[in-house]
Amino acid sequence: MSSICELSDDLLVKILSLVKTKDAVATSLLSKRWLSLWKLVPRLDYVTTPWHSSDPSSDFINNFLLLSEAPVLETMHLRLGYFCKREEHERWVEIAVARHVRVLELIHSTYPSTPMPCPSSLFTCRGLVVLSLQEVMIWEIPSTIFLQSLKTLSLLCVRFCSRRDDELVHTLLSACPVLETLVVRRWLEDCVTTFNIAVPSLQSLYIMHRPGGHVQTDDRECVINAPSLKALKVSDELSWFRLLVEMPKLVKAEIKIRQDDSKKLLRCLASAKHLSLCVTSAKQLLTEKSVENLCQLEYLELCTICSSDWLCLLLKHSPKLRVLRLNNQRNCCGSSRKIRVKWEEPCCVPECLVTSLETVEWIGYEGTETEKEVAIYILEKANHLKKMTISRHITNLREKYRTLIDLVSRLSCCASKCRLEFFY
Ligand SMILES: [Zn+2]
Repeated sequence: MSSICELSDDLLVKILSLVKTKDAVATSLLSKRWLSLWKLVPRLDYVTTPWHSSDPSSDFINNFLLLSEAPVLETMHLRLGYFCKREEHERWVEIAVARHVRVLELIHSTYPSTPMPCPSSLFTCRGLVVLSLQEVMIWEIPSTIFLQSLKTLSLLCVRFCSRRDDELVHTLLSACPVLETLVVRRWLEDCVTTFNIAVPSLQSLYIMHRPGGHVQTDDRECVINAPSLKALKVSDELSWFRLLVEMPKLVKAEIKIRQDDSKKLLRCLASAKHLSLCVTSAKQLLTEKSVENLCQLEYLELCTICSSDWLCLLLKHSPKLRVLRLNNQRNCCGSSRKIRVKWEEPCCVPECLVTSLETVEWIGYEGTETEKEVAIYILEKANHLKKMTISRHITNLREKYRTLIDLVSRLSCCASKCRLEFFY
């Protein structure tokens, strides 16, 4: 086996690029040859402990940037604690921008102090391809902003704070002409009323609210105008949502919102083939019109805690459905509704059961009368069903067999061609 010392400098630098910068620098102790190798690594990846009482990061980052000999600094990932000084933070970003940084990640752990202001130099970094900001504050965006190469933008708990907050979001996104992926985790205390996402080039959008935040507000809105979207994931029960345009390229949508918004949102998902729904609300607002255009669906996942009453309608309007996943995992849904609507057998068998449904997976099956009726209906009517998997958390052996026998004994012989699996 060849020794690691026989590897070329180029390859060793690539290997050192894969580890944290502290570890890359530590390799300088290995031998004379390794002494300067880390200086060629085009990547600064530094993570501090948020609650550290002193500031060990400044010297390290300053020395790295001073001694680095890599022709460009491709990537800078900084995770800094609240002790980080604003001037230093701005200078590091300025250096990275001057050295043509392509991937920039600035993460602050600021609590309980206020977020770190976002260095304005990054808004004119023309070579930037990936930008991730977390717990920084944007209070001003220069009029010269132009992020002509930016393809991926993450705004995680970014605090927009000026009297023109809504405008700041719009100004930032309008300056990204080739943006493809946007991730937004709203900061609960920000002053943005309407988070306006108008990005013609956007292909993937992921919106979520801050974990643990359950403050219900009635004036937070998210408006999406992204006609090129292929994937949409919304997990935000605290905001209202409005989709302004059809999205003909949309393939995958995961929606976890208040049901009050569902009508508007679902109508724009007409081309989706893969849909996951968890829709919480105190009200029942589902109408046939909300789902009648979802005719391209091939994969459907439903949260049965809050959305089981959607099942019949969705089956009726999804003639190409191949995979149905029913999910009763309590930790996935914060629904206060918990209404179990009685299963009503459709007046005629949905087309997908006759022609396309092949797989059903039921997670957290509890064996209630309604669940049994649904399972038996599908098993009996789905002509092409190859596999139904039912998983249930039961430790009692007697109950386990009772569930199994109960379900199987009520099946007619015509359902026997499908493979039925139970997991406990
Ligand atoms: Zn749910």
